[in-house]
Amino acid sequence: MSAGSVRVRFAPSPTGHLHVGGARTALMNWLFARHHGGVFILRIEDTDRERSTPEATAAILSAMRWLGLDWDEGPQTGGPSGPYFQSERRASYAEAAGRLLAAGHAYRCYCTPEELEARRGEQLARGASPRYDGRCFELPESERLRVAAERGPGAVRLRMPPGETSWDDVTRDTVRFSHDELDDIVLLRSDGLPTYNFAAVVDDAAMRITHVIRGDDHISNTPRQIVIYGLLGIEPPRFAHVPMILGPDGSRLSKRHGATSVEAFRDEGFLPEAMVNFLALLGWAYDGKQELFDREDLVAKFDLDRVGKNPAIFNYEKLEWMNAVYLRRLSLDERTRLALAEIETAGLARPATAPVFYSRLVEAIGERLRRPSDVLVHGAFALRDEVTFEPEAWAMVVSEPKARDRLSAVAECLERLPEVSAAAAESAIRALAAEMGVKAGELIHPSRVALTGSRASLGIFDVMEILGKERAVARLRGAASRL
Ligand code: GLU
Repeated sequence: MSAGSVRVRFAPSPTGHLHVGGARTALMNWLFARHHGGVFILRIEDTDRERSTPEATAAILSAMRWLGLDWDEGPQTGGPSGPYFQSERRASYAEAAGRLLAAGHAYRCYCTPEELEARRGEQLARGASPRYDGRCFELPESERLRVAAERGPGAVRLRMPPGETSWDDVTRDTVRFSHDELDDIVLLRSDGLPTYNFAAVVDDAAMRITHVIRGDDHISNTPRQIVIYGLLGIEPPRFAHVPMILGPDGSRLSKRHGATSVEAFRDEGFLPEAMVNFLALLGWAYDGKQELFDREDLVAKFDLDRVGKNPAIFNYEKLEWMNAVYLRRLSLDERTRLALAEIETAGLARPATAPVFYSRLVEAIGERLRRPSDVLVHGAFALRDEVTFEPEAWAMVVSEPKARDRLSAVAECLERLPEVSAAAAESAIRALAAEMGVKAGELIHPSRVALTGSRASLGIFDVMEILGKERAVARLRGAASRL
């Protein structure tokens, strides 16, 4: 493919948030364009006047920007093939419909929604697959004029020619549809607004789209679109249908499985770089081994030939793991800033605490930080004043007759240190254990419960340093006095 020849588009309908399925489609279009040095267009398919809202458009644009999917032509950016809102392109649909009508490839249909619905019901009752019966095509001209005078201009329907349509899909083998399965679809509704199939063809042609990359839920639309291209005398683009996304249980991904909108993932603390890496792997694989790809690497390696046709599973665990990887790539300062925002939102910020307290905490949490809000879980011991003892943890302390003495000894040992750094605490406590003739663990286990309330925590010497001498000693003494 010659550089610069690729033109692709992402064409969302602004009826809600950007779903991860849509984001994955947008990403694949973007990667394909960037890989081939082509053009990525954003087109807003807002012809469903009842369901399209400006708020949804704004949410989609902001989610795309957050993911770093910049468009070369589209809303706000502009470009030579605009406007990029279908609601502003009505003249071109009317013009194309006029050409099809004039050539006899389309006809006006005056059937009312109620009539269509009643006939559909009859067909279903007979066990026939519902389709338009073509009756307006057969109207003699005099009759047509009479009905038109009564009912207005009507809708424009395509006259589906006999035959079959096939295409060589980029991500699967040849796909074939008999026209018996396709009926005379509406191109323009009686209010003059185009249907999706018609508007998509007119715009993809006008915008000189070379590859239509979209979800495979659109496969059954493709033969209809190819027929429209044919009747308009336009060469269709190539089609690549990307596989659907399933939840971990194998059913179609939905809210039941967890977050599904890009915005929700953003609000839950996922990083755009992690999302991009994760989404790219939904339906695409490089060598079956590599999983971590930064943006430049994806642009360099992505192509459609390795997009599969089997459904992709949205594995939330894997996304969390990936997010942890990308969080670790941030500087400690950046990670701390994200964590601190969560701490503040939770109302757990500690007044008069030096910033280093938070960065030490985040540093000690290390890989356990899968999302910034994990600081609230792993850092609870330091963020809250009260220790909440897990019953089993406290029971373990109680069952050791020497626990009281050991906790007191650790308290005293820390108190004697000029400063409780993790390293100083470690060597002092190991020396203390040797002096007392016990294993270090015998001092550490009850201390951990006394300091954090739990049997599992961050490294115990980090815990001591983060709490600081005063808080650590008070907790050890407090626990000892309860025994
Ligand atoms: N507006 C359509 C959708 O959101 C676009 C499909 C296409 O890419 O052709 O599903």
